[in-house]
Amino acid sequence: MNILLGASVALICAGMVVVNLSRGTYPMAAILALVVLILVLDLVAALRLQRLPVSINLVLCLIGAAIVLGIWLIGPETGFYAFPAVIGAFLVSRGLFPLVFSLIFCGGVVSMTLFSGGDWPFAMRLFFALSLCLAFLWYAAIRIDEAQNQLVSGCIRDPLTGCFNRRHLEAVIEIEDLSDAALILFDLDDFKSVNDNLGHPTGDYVLKAVTMLVQQELSPGDLLFRLGGEEFLVLRPCGDLASARTLAEQCRAQLEGSGILKMRRITATFSCAAIAGQADLMPALCRADVMLLRAKRDGRNRVA
Ligand code: GH3
Ligand code: MG
Ligand code: MG
Repeated sequence: MNILLGASVALICAGMVVVNLSRGTYPMAAILALVVLILVLDLVAALRLQRLPVSINLVLCLIGAAIVLGIWLIGPETGFYAFPAVIGAFLVSRGLFPLVFSLIFCGGVVSMTLFSGGDWPFAMRLFFALSLCLAFLWYAAIRIDEAQNQLVSGCIRDPLTGCFNRRHLEAVIEIEDLSDAALILFDLDDFKSVNDNLGHPTGDYVLKAVTMLVQQELSPGDLLFRLGGEEFLVLRPCGDLASARTLAEQCRAQLEGSGILKMRRITATFSCAAIAGQADLMPALCRADVMLLRAKRDGRNRVA
């Protein structure tokens, strides 16, 4: 919850409570006072970094109900508050909720406007203006979601291959259990000579093709990271060393027979290690690295 926004809304609603008390519209003042109270409780929880006692969606529903009630108690002009309410819903809530809430709420506002004596032309103008507002907000919400997804993906994925990057590996270490996990480290063989002899773009193509090929061999839950250059990591959060070795051998054989390039064979050297919990991931990576170096010295294109 944004503290400044929540505090501003609470303050404005508190002002409305005072106005309603002075005008004698006590039921309206009561429901607005309830909104203020809930917002204050939520703000206190947010400041203490605790879970909100009343969800933002519920607060929105209460504000929506207050506005519909206000149209009945005070008059059709209260319907103008529907605009900040739907804008607020799209700003503070995510997913389908803002749209569903706004549709039901706007239906309620227009119906109550008619029911409470508002004339047809006014109700229709309110309906069309709210519908336009909703369409723009829904469009903006979709664009913001797309941009956010792109941003997140750009932060955690390698742009060339689409594999997860080291930053995401650090995040995974924080959240995954890894008490029964295994990893596979692999490095393309003599990859420098691919670049030197066939050019960097061909090298890039090989990196992408290898990634696709390995992705096809992975099980759901396996995570593929590009650690740097032509070195990759497969993290199997639920799997033992034997299953990791089997997968590594499958990938090695697939790669060897893949014919990614016509003019030369592409191979990789693999090493596997079991992981005993989150704290063991980096040590397991070091153990795998040592085995990988040994396997490279022993002739490459093998699983250690
Ligand atoms: P080894 O079998 O011992 O691993 O030998 P290698 O040639 O694969 O390893 P080396 O570390 O000598 O060379 C790695 C090469 O990977 C050097 C670098 O130019 C290339 N490389 C790293 N990142 C990229 C990339 O993003 N694209 C391309 N095309 N090449 C890359
Ligand atoms: Mg290499
Ligand atoms: Mg390397």
